[in-house]
Amino acid sequence: MIDSHVHIGGEAEGFIMNEELVLQSMENYGVDISIVSNADSVEYGDDLVMLPKEKQVNQEETLARIIRFCRENPGKIYGAFWCKPNHELLTERIDEMIAMNRDIIVALKVHPFLSNLSFSDGKMVSYLDMAVKHHLPVIVHTASDSNSSPMRVYEMACRYPQLNFIMAHMGLGTDNKLAVDLMEKAENLYADTTWVPVETTLEVIRRYGSERVMFGSDNPIDGVNTYACNPLGEPSVYQQYFGVLKEMISQEDYENLMEKTARRVFGIA
Ligand SMILES: [Zn+2]
Repeated sequence: MIDSHVHIGGEAEGFIMNEELVLQSMENYGVDISIVSNADSVEYGDDLVMLPKEKQVNQEETLARIIRFCRENPGKIYGAFWCKPNHELLTERIDEMIAMNRDIIVALKVHPFLSNLSFSDGKMVSYLDMAVKHHLPVIVHTASDSNSSPMRVYEMACRYPQLNFIMAHMGLGTDNKLAVDLMEKAENLYADTTWVPVETTLEVIRRYGSERVMFGSDNPIDGVNTYACNPLGEPSVYQQYFGVLKEMISQEDYENLMEKTARRVFGIA
């Protein structure tokens, strides 16, 4: 089983997510592989006030921490490079680090909300060109704000037909309808299940097949038991993904959703 949407870092944003929590929760809940990005790359707070200088961590450092985590856990942890497109340029050093670690760095991660930058902004171009060069799929946080709208991802999916784009959350805080409908218009648009109701995932499978959607969770954003419940003890949506969903779709679809789509899209052998 693969979780395609896992984090470490992000202390400046108030998150408590680290390597130990990721490994412990994977063991507790039977997750074999996690694709991890480092939230130390956030550029703005939730209030869209830019983080002060002393709280900013540069891209090279955030990528280096991911690479370390992957190398210490071969076959178990893969990395997504969370870029800082609003305030940092893509350096040669970053390009080199990705080239040298392409076996474990399997995606580019973009968070338009916490970068306070539209996903279709011109500042994205050098990063997406880099993704083309290294054949990296692009994971994009999508939500109800204009910067993170699934529409922006669709626009870039049209401009970059050679890249695959994963719409994380399928529009967080929305009814997911826009994201689901856009998948019809661009075959290089994929979905992840992070905070997505099971009903939406079933609709994606029904309309486009289980090759277009992959399991993701934001683990360990709610602590070591994110897969089961939030800190208040309220059950998480993932209990359904681990439980009842198995009986609602074919075994083949379930395997695609929980493992094989991610394996194929991220090129994990
Ligand atoms: Zn996330």
